[in-house]
Amino acid sequence: MKRVAVIGAGPSGLAQLHAFQSAALKGAEIPDIVCYEKQDNWGGMWNYTWRTGLDEYGEPIHSSMYGNLRTNISKECMEYPDYSFQEHFGKSFASFPPRSVIFDYIDGRAKKSDVRKWIRFRTPVRRVTYDEDKGMFSVAAHDLVNDTEYTEEFDFVVVAIGHFSTPNVPYFSGIETFSGRLLHSHDLRNLLEFKDKDVLVIGSSFSAEDMTVQCWKYGCKSVTISHRRATPIGHKWADNIKEVPLLQKVSNSTCTFEDGSTTDVDAIILCTGYLHHFPFMADDLKLRATNRLAIDNLYKGVVWVDNPKVYYLGMQDALTFMQLDVEAWYVRDIVMGRIHVPDRDARLSNVKERMAREDAEIKSLADHIRLYIEYTVELLADTDCPRFNIEMWKAALYQWNDQRSENMFTYCDACYRSPVTGTMSPLHHTPWKDAFDDSLECYLRD
Ligand code: FAD
Repeated sequence: MKRVAVIGAGPSGLAQLHAFQSAALKGAEIPDIVCYEKQDNWGGMWNYTWRTGLDEYGEPIHSSMYGNLRTNISKECMEYPDYSFQEHFGKSFASFPPRSVIFDYIDGRAKKSDVRKWIRFRTPVRRVTYDEDKGMFSVAAHDLVNDTEYTEEFDFVVVAIGHFSTPNVPYFSGIETFSGRLLHSHDLRNLLEFKDKDVLVIGSSFSAEDMTVQCWKYGCKSVTISHRRATPIGHKWADNIKEVPLLQKVSNSTCTFEDGSTTDVDAIILCTGYLHHFPFMADDLKLRATNRLAIDNLYKGVVWVDNPKVYYLGMQDALTFMQLDVEAWYVRDIVMGRIHVPDRDARLSNVKERMAREDAEIKSLADHIRLYIEYTVELLADTDCPRFNIEMWKAALYQWNDQRSENMFTYCDACYRSPVTGTMSPLHHTPWKDAFDDSLECYLRD
């Protein structure tokens, strides 16, 4: 029997296990599966921990989520096609829930599909190599609890470790003299830490924007958002938020920006993104990528061009649970011989075409969303992944983009239609800016 190693039991790895399980339930013979997971539970990024830095085994902490985190897209944009929020919670509820609600939801589908039996928790993968003669992969893993390492052989390897865990930390002149609190957003756990403080947020991505409004919500005295974009981000900020060019230098608590302006701050939060980081993959199998939609060397966004028995899930700059399911189904069908992968030249030209198209066509977030939807629909067409209403999904993604551009302080209060059940979400009992209890119980209350 063929053997598949799945590395990571976050939403991508779980989607892969679920895809195989779905085939088994339809009577197909599925391969032998082993899923290695570094943490003590599934859920990946959504598996919150109070820890930062290293865990109790000395492993780098995976999750970048802080305690007060709410989804930054509506839940209707990220619903499982075959497991609606309505099915899991038994009711319809508002659209931007806290992390705890999403974790519960991920947990619910994983339990329902009965995939825990394949997962080895507390077992990070240390090394993956390919033996050309045998046509097999060696996967070396570390059983942290017993502190033993072992190696097994597999026919296929699916890498599903995400790409929002290893911080990208740029240097700014004089930053070593900064006398306040300096951290990357990966290490932030509680926004109340910044109440009444002057905070500098560096970056212009979603995480920088979200961090800015969260700092505002949790009572910062002021927020300065500094970035390298040529033009302002374009949001109408509150009075105590200002946008400045990129940080040029730091001297104690004084920050100087590229336009010569200065400000004194108590804290600097680096929202400077993450590195695609796969230290355990042998050189010839290792993805080297930047944060974009079309990823170099991945045919159809998932198949390693130089060895079509290696797959990377969820590597794009934009992730929803629908797309992760679609990718997992696509990979499953390659492994099970249902989808044919063309030769290397064709794989490479698929990658180059995707990259060229992205470079030529993406001028705005709306373009990004359009290509993202097209990509998901393209893969969906080749599989029997459960269907959802694509038009409603599109509408939800564009609605999110429009409302976020219009008002960063109210977009989380909007209602959305589910592309899975067709139901419109109700208004939440408390506007986002006044909601400070991020527990599941409070959010789901009528
Ligand atoms: P991850 O969730 O990162 O899971 C990867 C898993 O691999 C982890 O469990 C990890 O422990 C494991 N792993 C890592 N290394 C190893 C190893 N060597 N061996 C074995 N296991 C390993 N997405 C949304 O759809 N909506 C949102 O609102 C949203 N908000 C976000 C907010 C923040 C701050 C961040 C950082 C991300 C957010 N995301 C959001 C994106 C989020 O990453 C995805 O929702 C999802 O978690 C991606 O799943 P994944 O399985 O690919 O990766």
